[in-house]
Amino acid sequence: MKVEAILSAKRSGVVTVLPEDTIATVARVLAEKAIGAVVVSDGRDGVAGIITERDLVRALARFGNETVTHGVAELMTRDVVTATSHDTIDDVSERMTRGKFRHVPIMEGERLVGMVSIGDIVKYRIESIEAEASAMREYIATA
Ligand code: AMP
Repeated sequence: MKVEAILSAKRSGVVTVLPEDTIATVARVLAEKAIGAVVVSDGRDGVAGIITERDLVRALARFGNETVTHGVAELMTRDVVTATSHDTIDDVSERMTRGKFRHVPIMEGERLVGMVSIGDIVKYRIESIEAEASAMREYIATA
């Protein structure tokens, strides 16, 4: 199954911040939106990086109370692994496992069009298994 199956079930729009924003802004956005990562926009439609709750925890361990004043550009991951909506969910899941991260921005060429998290993939898989089990029960009941 393809990534587009997950994207079409999600509310559209990806939450982004800018490289010049502070970690205080990232913390506020993550808390307000109840998410674990934000894409760092390049100021147009593209991706300059990604910053997640894990980066914030690492920064806290390193900078303590000063963390919130640091800039996003300093702490974001610049080498971002992305996917397209035509990639399979299994493939994206494998990239997450291999890279030890839980978020993958979805691109259309150079343009950011979505975000898939490990939570989205788990939710999709549970729903697929439930639908399969339900179809199987119906089949057995009517056979
Ligand atoms: P996460 O598990 O998504 O919170 O991310 C763990 C670490 O991997 C953090 O340092 C993130 O900045 C980084 N990271 C998250 N997503 C990606 C991605 N798609 N490509 C590269 N690095 C990432």
